[in-house]
Amino acid sequence: PLLANQIAAGEVVERPSSVVKELLENAIDAGAKRIQVDIERGGARLIRITDDGHGIEREQLELALARHATSKITQTEDLKAIHTLGFRGEALASISSVAKLTLSSKAQAASDDSAGWSAIAQGHDMAVEIQPRPMPAGTIVEVRDLFFNTPARRKFLRAERTEYVHIEETMKRVALASPSVAFTLKHNGKVTKRIPAAKSEEQQKQRIGAIVSNNFLRQALYLDTSIDSLRIWGWLSSPEHHQNSSFSQYVFVNGRAVRDRTLNHAIKQAYQELLPAGRVPAYVLYLELDPEKVDVNVHPTKHEVRFSDARQVHDFISRAVAEALEPQAE
Ligand code: ADP
Ligand code: MG
Repeated sequence: PLLANQIAAGEVVERPSSVVKELLENAIDAGAKRIQVDIERGGARLIRITDDGHGIEREQLELALARHATSKITQTEDLKAIHTLGFRGEALASISSVAKLTLSSKAQAASDDSAGWSAIAQGHDMAVEIQPRPMPAGTIVEVRDLFFNTPARRKFLRAERTEYVHIEETMKRVALASPSVAFTLKHNGKVTKRIPAAKSEEQQKQRIGAIVSNNFLRQALYLDTSIDSLRIWGWLSSPEHHQNSSFSQYVFVNGRAVRDRTLNHAIKQAYQELLPAGRVPAYVLYLELDPEKVDVNVHPTKHEVRFSDARQVHDFISRAVAEALEPQAE
């Protein structure tokens, strides 16, 4: 199992920020309201994610580490309309094959005086050891010494600062996708980012300013358009506030951060004549559509999506964005 998992890890775990992404998604799927991320040495030494989600029962701990074990879908039919961020049951198995992983949890349903439990996968057969661990309800995943047993990959880790920046970027994306969740990020023991939960529209706006930039939010145009079951809403930079890097381009599909060519192309097309050459827009856009009309099971990282009617989605977005920009074009 170790080798099979390491091969799968090659696709899922590219660098520390990919571990952070998978663990954050698990915490969100567990209904967490507060998530704390502790990083040491750019994630090469330690990545610890603490959440207050529903937790995992002791009997399920070992299963959670097994490959292709997911509690999120139970039949093939479910794959047609995925409502959770995870569904492949690959992340924990993959990560534990290339790092020292401890999965600790106390189920919300567990009685108060019962301890939590830790599961540690080890060795070539990836045997799981279970130990008691007193903790509050929720889950703690600790990933130490990433790539310790795959030296060729460890060598590809970049400078601590670079890996940290990727982690911060990952957290921003997840935070933008989940406005009602509070996040704290610590690096080498110091709090580096605190993103409170947004409880109203106004707070949500402030939060986007704090995550992306207040400059962006100040000049941004608000957009909210629906046709049938398609809805696009969010904030767009007005054409005179273009930038020269694509760093502040965020698109979410049904709450999932994606990088999708169809969507990027549609937005770019709407801006086409309005921006000087080489300049790009900034945006935070949320697309909502029937989960059956979008396939998220395209790649193990789940960054890519495939629309059953890409043309329709493309034209809808292109038109909605163009309309939002219109008064500016006069
Ligand atoms: P997936 O998310 O695709 O189901 P993972 O390997 O990421 O697969 O996780 C395996 C299983 O472990 C999940 O289906 C879930 O049941 C459990 N799990 C993982 N992380 C958490 C968490 N933070 N809180 C509760 N359950 C979790
Ligand atoms: Mg997962």
